[in-house]
Amino acid sequence: MSAQRIDGTGVSADVRAKVAEAVKALPGQPALAVVLVGEDPASQVYVRSKVRLTEEAGMVSVHHQLPATATQAEVEDLIASLNADDTIDGILLQLPLPKGLDEHSAIECIDPDKDVDGLTEVSAGRLTLGKPGLRPCTPNGCVILAKSALGEDLSGKHVVVIGRSILVGKPAALLFLAENCTVTIAHSRTADLPAVCRTADILVPAVGRPNMVKGDWVKPGATLIDVGINRIPAPEKGEGKTRLVGDADFADCEPVAGHITPVPGGVGPMTIACLLRNTVLAACTRRGWSMPE
Ligand code: NDP
Repeated sequence: MSAQRIDGTGVSADVRAKVAEAVKALPGQPALAVVLVGEDPASQVYVRSKVRLTEEAGMVSVHHQLPATATQAEVEDLIASLNADDTIDGILLQLPLPKGLDEHSAIECIDPDKDVDGLTEVSAGRLTLGKPGLRPCTPNGCVILAKSALGEDLSGKHVVVIGRSILVGKPAALLFLAENCTVTIAHSRTADLPAVCRTADILVPAVGRPNMVKGDWVKPGATLIDVGINRIPAPEKGEGKTRLVGDADFADCEPVAGHITPVPGGVGPMTIACLLRNTVLAACTRRGWSMPE
């Protein structure tokens, strides 16, 4: 038996279509401001697709570009002006910032009610306390994908998240906890990681190590949500070519798992879909609109 593939591209398209429907039902158009500092080519690609998909969902997208030479004060002044701009509902600061700029300090300038990436300390606090707020996008995408495979009710499932970063591991663990899962957070100091992983009904590697999770780390029938995105050499495609792989060894895990996300085409596309959802939520919360279903 081979695992069913979880189609992150399809699920993310569904989420975006629902966002577009919700936007149509609102009394006004939510607006997302994207701030890009410098000319990192990968960041430019991400920003272009965020702008395009925001507009496709019927929302307003405002793109602010600062040069790589921008000072911390210039970045933070721009964020302050977006905080003060009542027409802007969401602010996304594209990371990483150029060397020399303090990301944490810049993120902390974002009004938590406009923090559509869910990265400010206030957003993290709201998540930890179980208060309403904007949740980090990639971890949110993991929960949506798990539900797409297993149904809405995840209660009682044992989730093992490998990784405890602020961006992915910790918020993913808290989001699954909020779904009444029993959660274990594993990391680089975890003893006998394969044995810990084998206890998981839902295994969520978020490490950044290509093909680390092997088939014999997976409980038969478990759901594997692979957050890792790793570029490795692919000499079979030609000299100097590369390809993307996850943290799980897909070929090894697929025969054991019940459901599995591919890389690419799994968790990756969910991040932008959740960003768009957060923008609608931020607009509704700020402007006192009721959130469409
Ligand atoms: P970080 O490097 O910040 O965190 C990695 C985590 O993995 C750490 O907690 C670390 O543990 C743990 N770790 C490292 N080595 C091991 C090991 N040998 N065994 C067990 N745990 C280990 O990475 P991120 O959380 O930012 O990202 C993780 C992955 O997710 C990356 O591949 C990244 O590209 C991908 N990603 C994908 C996104 C998407 O849209 N799909 C979005 C964001 C990230 P410790 O704390 O002990 O050092």
